[in-house]
Amino acid sequence: MQDPRSSSTLEEHIMSTTLFEKIIAREIPADIVFEDDSVLAFRDINPQAPTHVLIIPKKVIPRVGEAQEEDQLLLGYLLLKAGEVARKLNLENGFRLVINNGRDGGETVPHLHCHLLGGRSLEWPPG
Ligand code: AMP
Repeated sequence: MQDPRSSSTLEEHIMSTTLFEKIIAREIPADIVFEDDSVLAFRDINPQAPTHVLIIPKKVIPRVGEAQEEDQLLLGYLLLKAGEVARKLNLENGFRLVINNGRDGGETVPHLHCHLLGGRSLEWPPG
């Protein structure tokens, strides 16, 4: 797969990047709740709970099933930051982290993201 950043024109670059890369680049707006050099957290546009935030790595990893050994620290860091965001958003009664992978997993955006859901009692098992 071609690295989108190696596209020859700006137009090609914009066409080839995912929605979440565009949010990272501030090309489309998002309600950002946390950002540092490695990760970005923003509110889901179609919330499934009173608090629904997506935590994403800035590095382009399409899905967790395609993560590499070299991503080990970043994946752990993503979970650490998810916990911090949960504390920041006062989810002391509990929360759920979800990572959808592939078609049957319900993934719709091919840029690894961790859903943080909270603010209500969540049922189990999920649908
Ligand atoms: P998934 O279905 O696991 O791939 O999750 C993708 C999530 O991205 C869904 O929950 C969408 O509601 C959310 N989403 C799509 N577009 C946007 C956007 N522009 N800003 C924030 N969240 C979005």
